[in-house]
Amino acid sequence: MTSSTRKTALVVSAHSADFVWRAGGAIALYAARGWDVIVVCLSFGERGESAKLWRQPGMTLERVKSERKEEALRAAEVLGAQVRFLDVGDYPMRIDNSTLGELVRIYREARPEFVLTHSLTDPYNFDHPLASHVAQEARIVAQAHGHDPATPVIGAPGVFLFEPHQPEQCDWKPQVILDITSVWEKKAAAFRVMAAQEHLWEYYERVALQRGAQGARNSDRQMKYGEAYQRVFPLVGDELR
Ligand SMILES: [Zn+2]
Repeated sequence: MTSSTRKTALVVSAHSADFVWRAGGAIALYAARGWDVIVVCLSFGERGESAKLWRQPGMTLERVKSERKEEALRAAEVLGAQVRFLDVGDYPMRIDNSTLGELVRIYREARPEFVLTHSLTDPYNFDHPLASHVAQEARIVAQAHGHDPATPVIGAPGVFLFEPHQPEQCDWKPQVILDITSVWEKKAAAFRVMAAQEHLWEYYERVALQRGAQGARNSDRQMKYGEAYQRVFPLVGDELR
């Protein structure tokens, strides 16, 4: 397939590592099927999600950003995705109209079949729901005929919310469990690239095993590792299953 005929998926990640923990399995699975998977990192997680780097003496914001960027690029390469960094800053994250417009351009250029992003609420992290808000706002602007009429509008790609760190507090439920057993080794290899957040490797393996066990229990699949999502929009089809 040429790049123009390949299907595309879009991942909108608040910080440079979120896509690895929360959507690495889906990314590796679809990349292995020949899809173009585009990850947009709104920030590098330079202030809020880089504690290990900040403990090193003499660390600077620019060095943290560049190390987190390198890690994200290497993790994306392991998973088979392309990454775009918008560098809007984190803790606090703020989104202006030019960033929103850039994301709309990415939607119209990529024309994704589906979008993965953060949960709608998260009392532990204000950047994550903001990333979810902007991912959805950009999707709707990209559907608007009156916005930049020179480029074609997009359809209605499904939006799937990846698993937050503490799901119960975030009003998030696992409505879709993706079997990522076949690509687990790739997801685990991408974890290991994230040296700044080594404390999360084991935690996210436990999450994948838990969702894998639930996936097997809710289906006839023999699966070991799962990755769960909550849907924003209804599933549309001509059968109940
Ligand atoms: Zn994050």
